[in-house]
Formats: sequence, structure tokens, C-alpha cells
Amino acid sequence: MAMPQQNASTPDLLALLAREFGADLLVDEAALAARSRDESGLVRLPAAVLLARSEAQVVRLVALANEHQFAVIPRGAGTGLAGGCLSPLGGVVLDLTAMSRILCIDTQSLTATVEPGVITGDLRAAVKAVGLFYPPDPASLSTSTIGGNAATNAGGPACVKYGTTRDYVLGIRAVLPTGELVRAGVNTRKGVVGYDLTRLIVGSEGTLGVITELTLKLIPHPRASACVAAVFPDLNAAMRAIIAVMTRGHLPSAMEFLDARCLKLVGDLLPFAVEGEHSALVLMEVDGDPDQVLREAEGIAAICRELGASNILPPAVDEEGREAIWKVRRSVSTRIHEACAVYLPEDIAVPIGHIADMVAALPEVEERHGMTIFAFGHAGDGNIHLNLTAQDEALRPRVEAAAVDCVRLALTLGGTISGEHGIGLAKRGLLPLEIEPVSLRVQRGLKALLDPNNVLNPGKIFPPEGAEAVL
Ligand SMILES: Cc1cc2nc3c(=O)[nH]c(=O)nc-3n(C[C@H](O)[C@H](O)[C@H](O)COP(=O)(O)OP(=O)(O)OC[C@H]3O[C@@H](n4cnc5c(N)ncnc54)[C@H](O)[C@@H]3O)c2cc1C
Repeated sequence: MAMPQQNASTPDLLALLAREFGADLLVDEAALAARSRDESGLVRLPAAVLLARSEAQVVRLVALANEHQFAVIPRGAGTGLAGGCLSPLGGVVLDLTAMSRILCIDTQSLTATVEPGVITGDLRAAVKAVGLFYPPDPASLSTSTIGGNAATNAGGPACVKYGTTRDYVLGIRAVLPTGELVRAGVNTRKGVVGYDLTRLIVGSEGTLGVITELTLKLIPHPRASACVAAVFPDLNAAMRAIIAVMTRGHLPSAMEFLDARCLKLVGDLLPFAVEGEHSALVLMEVDGDPDQVLREAEGIAAICRELGASNILPPAVDEEGREAIWKVRRSVSTRIHEACAVYLPEDIAVPIGHIADMVAALPEVEERHGMTIFAFGHAGDGNIHLNLTAQDEALRPRVEAAAVDCVRLALTLGGTISGEHGIGLAKRGLLPLEIEPVSLRVQRGLKALLDPNNVLNPGKIFPPEGAEAVL
């Protein structure tokens, strides 16, 4: 598919955009630099930024992009890990963070209607204040936006029980790549009329539409939660316990694990010393009514004990106790990042029965490439965050080669290249490893149908035409 011919940096075009959008069009160095990165480590400088304040501005920008052939790149908070919001063609970044109103929380229909720039944590807090729950909980929730979460179909620890962002988006308003405004989906909890454009645009990483409003499903807020932390002699034992918990009738609202390397990095945050070279930590949380929650947490702790846990913390039910345990889990990626010069985050997912196989194969990958892998993640849904690292920038090619081996391994085990972070720019070369040619043709065809001029976030998800044959 052809790329937009003209980038947005020509003086005439910038002047036209400035006339259209006035002070909301940003071209100063600081504004461009601030939107030239996300959390992937990639850097691409845009020609201009539109800090959109209304849906009408979004419609106008996309219409102009079609008329003048420049790229428009939607952007939320820029916490993405795949370079999805970066502008490889000197296009216009469409920053949606100023469209950040919670328009309505309907306590009778249990829905919320929001603009895309609302911070996820702010929405969760606002609905909690009226007894309601918005479950999606990416670890970035204090900074990422609902629009970005929807565009990447973000997940988090709560996925195992509650599902991903897509499961909570009932309907959207979106500006299609042609500049037309579309209302897709429903305000109701069910709806089966026509093709499901909502679920197509959600998760499309800003390539099939700019989401300008979302109607979200809410549920009653659980009245209590309890957290169990258990240390196992090795990851295999930890995974046996995870599977036993699920097959014996429990459905925790989080099931997380840390491998031995991660555990060493955050061991100082634990209230006990971890012994053994290969120990693994499992965190499980349950929610519901206070009595039931405590009973369930004790039942889970008993299963962990039976399956060989060497250390189990008494179930934490108060906010402070739970927070202390979660701090251990949340500190891992920051500490890995701080400890390693080269840091490549992969987020493969495998069927849960194969997590231990996946992790067991990692030492061989490390040996082959001379680098180090830290593994932690969402055990309940098989989503393993593999942090591929090295201590010297010169070793980056080895780390990248190891990443390809890891995704191949995940695919061999029946898994997927990305459970959460998406493909964006960073992983588009890997797409043909997972998506077969027929599916790739259909997906490219959908993009071409909706975006005939290829102006909306071009160059993302799909490898450059012809590159399929290389891999
Ligand atoms: C510390 C940390 C922890 C993280 N933890 C998780 C996690 O647990 N789970 C998880 O899934 N991800 C996680 N992420 C990744 C990231 O936070 C998510 O992908 C998040 O959903 C991105 O939201 P954002 O607002 O930052 O979007 P951005 O990074 O700005 O954009 C992401 C993508 O969405 C598109 N986009 C943004 N807004 C819109 C819109 N309104 N309409 C159309 N397209 C749009 C962009 O074009 C881009 O392709 C984490 C990242 C960090 C740095």
C-alpha cells in the first residue's frame, strides 16, 4: 500500500494547518520532541502536533490529510511499548490528551461515557466513588489514557477474571481514516446488529479510526479483596500450583508470577528472605464479599502449601497490606530497566499449560546469544513479560536475535507474539511469523478499504509490502 507522498513539513502545508487550528497546532521544538517518543525506546520526530480539543478538529485534520496526503498519527499518553504513536513519516501527531472529560457516569445503566484522553486510573477512581468498577488495569493505569487502552486493547493482572479493555467497550464514536464520523456499537449490554465495527476499531492501534468518545461497561465494585503471596522452590512448582488453583474451582482476580532473577531484584521489598537459587514468587488476589474472600484466600494458601510453597504470607485483606505485596510486582520492570543498559520488553503469551515449558527453554536462548532474560507476568492468562537484557549497547543485536528466538518458541508452543503491547512499529517485522498469508491479505484489504489514501497511522502493524517473504 502506497505511503502518503507528501510529509507535513512543507511550509505551505504547515501554514495551512496553522490557519485551520491556530494555537492548537504546535510546531515548537519542545512540543515535537515530547511527542517523538513513547516507552518503546524508538524516536521519530513529527512535523507538527495538533493538540485536539474537539471531535470537529479531528474530523477536519483527517479530511485535510486525505486532501493533502500527509500522515496523521493518533496519540494518547505515549506509554505504548511498540512505537504505535510515533510518526515515521514526518506527519502530524494527533494528541488526544486534552479531550479528557468524563461525560457521564450512569449509575442506573452501569455505563460511563468518556472522551479518549481520560486517564484510566482517574476513571477507575471516579466510578469507584459511586460503587462501580471499571476492571481493566494495565500497570500504566496512572498515566495511560482510555483511548490508548482501547486502541491497544490493553490488559493487566485483572484480565484472568475480568477480560481486557475490549470487553468493556460497548460503543464508540470514531473518525474514520476518510474523515467521516462513525458511531459504532451500542449503549446496551448486548447488541448484535450488523458487523461489529467497535471490536474492529478497538485494538487496531490507531490504524482504522481515531476514537473520539467511548461508552464503557461498568460492574458493581467488589466489596473486598485479599492477596496471597507464596514462594515456590522453582517455577515449575509455582505453575503447578497456579493450575491447581484454577482447576479446583477458584477464579482469582489476579495471578502473577516472578522468576528467580526478578525475585533477586526486588527481594528487599519482601517481608522475608528468599532462599534457593531457583525460587519463584506467585501473587494471587481474590475479590468479592468479605467472608467469601477470606475463605477463598485461605483455600488458595492451602493449595500452595500442599504443592510445595516454601513460604506463604498470611492473606492480606487491608489496603496497606495488599499494596505492600503489589509494590513488589510493580517494581520489577523499573528495576530491570535501571539495572540493564539494553532492555527489550517482549510480551508473548502461551497456553497456561505451557508457561513452565516456555520459561524452561529460556536458558538455552540466553546461552546461544550471550544475554540475560528476566521473566515475570500474568500466569493466569499465560502472558509472560520477557525482558531481554544486556549490559552493553554493543550487544543489542544479540538481544534482538534472542527476541526473535523467543517469539518463535512461543509460537511453537501454541502462543502469540504479543498478549498486550501490540505490534506498532517495533514488532511489525515479526507479524508474518504468526499471521498466515490469507489472513494477512484480508487484514491488509480491510486497511485499504477503510483508509484508501493510507493516511491514518501508516506503516504500523504490517511489515513493508514484500517483506513477508523475507521472514
Ligand atoms: C510501565 C508500563 C506498564 C505497562 N503495563 C501495561 C499493561 O499492564 N498492559 C498493557 O496492555 N499495556 C501496558 N503498557 C503499555 C501501554 O501503557 C498501553 O499500551 C496503553 O494502552 C497505551 O496507552 P496510551 O494512552 O499511552 O497510548 P499511546 O502510547 O499514546 O498510543 C498507543 C497506540 O494507541 C493509538 N491511540 C492512542 N489514542 C488513540 C485514540 N484515541 N484513537 C485511536 N488510536 C489511538 C496510538 O496511535 C498507538 O498506536 C505499559 C507501559 C508502561 C510504560
